[in-house]
Amino acid sequence: DDRPRRDDRGYDRPRRDDRGYDRPRREAAPSHDASRDAHVDVVHERLQAEAIQADNIADATFADLGLGQNIVTRLTELGAEKPFPIQAATVAPILEGRDVLARGRTGSGKTIAFGAPLVESVLRSQAGTRREFGRAPKALIMAPTRELALQIDRTVQTLARSVGLFTTQIYGGVPQARQVGALKKGVDIVIGTPGRIEDLERQGKLDLADHMCELGFLEPVQRILRLTAGDSQKLLFSATLDREVAALVDEFLVEPAVYEVAGEDQDSGTIDHRVLVVDHRDKAE
Ligand code: AMP
Repeated sequence: DDRPRRDDRGYDRPRRDDRGYDRPRREAAPSHDASRDAHVDVVHERLQAEAIQADNIADATFADLGLGQNIVTRLTELGAEKPFPIQAATVAPILEGRDVLARGRTGSGKTIAFGAPLVESVLRSQAGTRREFGRAPKALIMAPTRELALQIDRTVQTLARSVGLFTTQIYGGVPQARQVGALKKGVDIVIGTPGRIEDLERQGKLDLADHMCELGFLEPVQRILRLTAGDSQKLLFSATLDREVAALVDEFLVEPAVYEVAGEDQDSGTIDHRVLVVDHRDKAE
């Protein structure tokens, strides 16, 4: 065998460890040290809102709050037998059609807090009508990241299925054909990230005119919300409520019911958020 052995190939292309010669290693990069020195925590100013303390709300069951039997059963199967405080606070006003603004730290149960009443509302709005092929979605859930959108869909989809409704995910980084196919057939609840949602709307493949519920967080969310019916119900759930969220609240939420869980805001939690600025070529490392 006269082909070079695997080990010999190192001569014409540098081994991983050698790359340090043409680009500085992390530790050696002056810009890295500089950026470490210049490290600044960006703290958004907190949105001042009069908050009803959710833990003051009496012991109600999910059924007492107005959710139907199929949804309650499915919640029990998911391990949610009794509402968490944020859920006890938000389910009833959402079913009444109010706009809602809620803060609860990661893990406080926000997904079910908006997801269960959203499914119930869509179900009620369709009572007595046939689910038509190609129908426009009734609710749009926007999340800032694809991972969060997928996580939300895992819960919302199982609740929706329990009452015969369909969800679909609309996010970037994957071909759009399957997403467009689902929209063509007709879905009831869309869950996704703002970029791809805007894309498909611009292409005329997603009709936002009929939306009832919105949940969003980022700047393009404003552009998307402006495309939806002015009287649609808007639900804004976040671990933080800062001045950026305030812009959404001012423009889109009409006399929202505002909730936060006492002693449970993100600031008192155990999660640290850090932004690390790195060169693209260093990203994998
Ligand atoms: P979330 O904050 O929405 O990500 O929910 C955090 C976790 O709590 C998830 O694993 C939920 O399934 C679970 N969970 C949410 N609500 C309840 C509840 N009422 N009872 C028990 N577990 C719940």
